[in-house]
Amino acid sequence: MKNKVRVRFAPSPTGPLHIGGVRTALYNYLFARKHGGDFVLRIEDTDQSRFVPGAEQYIAEALDWLGIPPDESPKKEGGFGPYRQSERQVLYKEHIDRLIDTGWAYYAFDSEAELTALREAHEKTGETFIYNWQNRTQFKNSLSLSPEEVTRLINTGASYVIRFKWPLDTVVQFDDLIRGRIQINANTLDDKVLFKSDGMPTYHLANIVDDHLMEITHVIRGEEWLPSLALHCQLYTAFGWEAPVFAHLPLILKPVGKGKLSKRDGEKLGFPIFPLQWKDSAGYREAGYFPEAVINFLALLGWNPGTEQELFSLEDLVGIFDLSRVQKSGARFDPDKNIWFNHQHLQLKSPRELVRLFRPVLSEQGVPAEDYSDAHLESVVSLIRERASFVHEFWGLGSYFFQAPRAFDDKAVRKQWKSGTPELMSALADVLEAAESFTAEASENSVKAWIAGNALGFGQVMPPLRLSIVGALKGPQLFEIMELIGQEETVSRMRYAVAHIEAKS
Ligand code: GLU
Repeated sequence: MKNKVRVRFAPSPTGPLHIGGVRTALYNYLFARKHGGDFVLRIEDTDQSRFVPGAEQYIAEALDWLGIPPDESPKKEGGFGPYRQSERQVLYKEHIDRLIDTGWAYYAFDSEAELTALREAHEKTGETFIYNWQNRTQFKNSLSLSPEEVTRLINTGASYVIRFKWPLDTVVQFDDLIRGRIQINANTLDDKVLFKSDGMPTYHLANIVDDHLMEITHVIRGEEWLPSLALHCQLYTAFGWEAPVFAHLPLILKPVGKGKLSKRDGEKLGFPIFPLQWKDSAGYREAGYFPEAVINFLALLGWNPGTEQELFSLEDLVGIFDLSRVQKSGARFDPDKNIWFNHQHLQLKSPRELVRLFRPVLSEQGVPAEDYSDAHLESVVSLIRERASFVHEFWGLGSYFFQAPRAFDDKAVRKQWKSGTPELMSALADVLEAAESFTAEASENSVKAWIAGNALGFGQVMPPLRLSIVGALKGPQLFEIMELIGQEETVSRMRYAVAHIEAKS
């Protein structure tokens, strides 16, 4: 028994990392950290036709951004490299030769055209063409041809693949940590291609050879690989190796309707599906999500801690993550919940951190952010954060802290700016202009005293006052806003409102 836990995330660099891939990476990371093990990033790039430049860098950058970097990767040698399959070709060649020698694999010379014709002919009769024990001797392969003919074909450069030879009547049994015991009768399975005509292994061979050589103890991956598991287990038997423990994660389902979450769902409903921007597809990072919120959300997409608690830091998750609590059934992706997590994590951030993130938003809006002290911005942020799920929403929630309103909410004006209101606001502006102290508390006291002294009602004064300062009837405690924008600005906004808002009744 290998003792150190070693897990791997093994994406193919065929495009950006889908959110499902991120979850697989995360569960591997959590499992490794929890058990003091290693988390390996292996790039499975044996399918040259699907290789997309930039995808590998994207994957590495996404894992870094999320705070779940691998311990070993193409950029970080850890004694088990290379970590790119395209650089491990010699190893696959050696291993496929072993399977040929032991009779577990055979050469097949059938052309693509012949196989396509067979597939099409079967489809016409509603059947699926399977290349296996039932018909393998009818085809052009090293089981049907003489050894001399096989050697001749190979020596003359004939194109071939190498197929796995399923022994007849094999029943493969394996235990999946999430799904329990699974039994498969291999008689219905294809003699899968292990080695391709381009001299590259297929996913199946490379994956097994690498998991073994990299001493992977647990294979945690998406459910879509379950159909390959019988072959993978049988390959371990063929090589005489101990198989790792398998755990197949549930599918991530569409927010509404049936089926797997797809990129199109994100486009339709307006949420990102990739961690980082990829071409013109939005990424979580660019959309303003915090990595820790994405992590928290994804951790609970298919796993639960067994309690009602929902908010977790990455560290918390490492402490409690357990594969036995991963569900079998698909996990529905809920974009609103994703936003909720961002909201929650935003509330956990320090005002200082929020100000650091808010400054660029201010600059983008043309506000000279450098004119404002951290302390001032921290006060602003503390007043509005509760209503925000994203830092970029701070602007919509609090632009009036930086710019005097020049437009006033119509409905509010109709309701609150009555005949007599301009006179009241004007008189109150005089009072506030003369005030000696302008702290929230001092203004509150003087405004209240003025209201009482003039036998007025709060409803006559407070809403129009807010309208003058904010431009609408929204926002946090008004006296706090006034303290932050200052005495001069408060009075000037009131005078502007008096001069510009037309009384409606
Ligand atoms: N290269 C496979 C993928 O793209 C890896 C599957 C596995 O983890 O075995 O997902």
